[in-house]
Amino acid sequence: QEMELHCVGCGVAIQTEDREKLGYAPPQALERETVICQRCHRIKHYNEASTVTLGDDDFVRILNSIGNTKSLVVQVVDIFDFNGSWLRGLPRFVGGNPILLVGNKVDLLPKNVNRNRLVNWMRKSAADLGLKPLDVVLVSARKGEGIDRLVAAMNEHRKGRDIYIVGVTNVGKSSLINRLLKQFGESEMDITTSQFPGTTLDVIEIPLDTTSSLFDTPGIVNRDQLVHKVAPQELKLIMPDKPIKPRVYQLNAEQTLFVGGLARIDFVKGERQPFVFYLSNHLNVHRTKLAKADELYAKHKGELLAPPGREAAEKIVWDTFTFKVPSGTHDIVISGLGWIALHGKGANVNVHVPKGVAVGLRHSLI
Ligand code: GDP
Repeated sequence: QEMELHCVGCGVAIQTEDREKLGYAPPQALERETVICQRCHRIKHYNEASTVTLGDDDFVRILNSIGNTKSLVVQVVDIFDFNGSWLRGLPRFVGGNPILLVGNKVDLLPKNVNRNRLVNWMRKSAADLGLKPLDVVLVSARKGEGIDRLVAAMNEHRKGRDIYIVGVTNVGKSSLINRLLKQFGESEMDITTSQFPGTTLDVIEIPLDTTSSLFDTPGIVNRDQLVHKVAPQELKLIMPDKPIKPRVYQLNAEQTLFVGGLARIDFVKGERQPFVFYLSNHLNVHRTKLAKADELYAKHKGELLAPPGREAAEKIVWDTFTFKVPSGTHDIVISGLGWIALHGKGANVNVHVPKGVAVGLRHSLI
């Protein structure tokens, strides 16, 4: 007789067939005395006990229940982590409900960044991912910038309906909710928390008027986010906390720059030109010769080339993106990290990042 195994973390029935499905554990995990599913293992490892992974049953239930309402959906993204902030399949799940896209953390941008270009890029990137937002609004939940415009846009587009705020963790959704609470005048408001129907997840309800409310949905973890490749204490190094100071490197072909141990940029071919880095001011950029880069990394990963620390560095599986950057001004965008502006006569550039992290090219924001 077969005994069904259950995860000691969440109680789900263990299966070893499909790593994308609930309850997956690698076959060798069954040899242990206690079996833990991959999801719980990750939660334990990454210390994300209060969050759920994308594609979880609960999460799908929430999105589907939004699909059954007549509402305005507000999707919050981190402008430094557009792809990592993405909720795959959102338009499909929320049915015909309109979506307002909010780009948070605008306070971190240097002054010379053109906000309209950023909005246009967000619009285009959203379209590439299958989303046509009603509007794109830039805000800073931390500084309050753009909140008035967001409130105006929400009121204009909701047409008396409820609002659902959605977003992956770390985009600043909680900070934004707190801002909105202040804006709407929290003293008069009767905030309630309850469980989303059919899930174990909490929702915060903020009444907007006598017939409609704003709902804050639970944050969802996108496992591909770069922030999950580093230890919690290293997070503050990669997430910028002050306006970014651009850093300029004059590079010759066949030189390589390491961004900590999180990204490696190889300038393979092209004339000598500036590479301008827009990253957290706390991240170290290390220059070397392309021919020496492998050796340098093998020797110094997790130490000179950190974050991540040694243990996490050992686990990284690398992915390479190859770009033929045209002449003129272009940005190579590394989701979760920032971007590198090039304005030379064209360059062949290879970018190495942990697998799952998105890297793309856009017209420069300057
Ligand atoms: P949540 O997981 O989406 O609820 O995000 P939090 O509100 O907890 O914020 C995640 C991180 O982003 C925290 O370190 C915040 O301090 C930071 N953060 C949130 N909003 C902003 C913002 O507008 N600007 C900046 N610079 N940081 C922000």
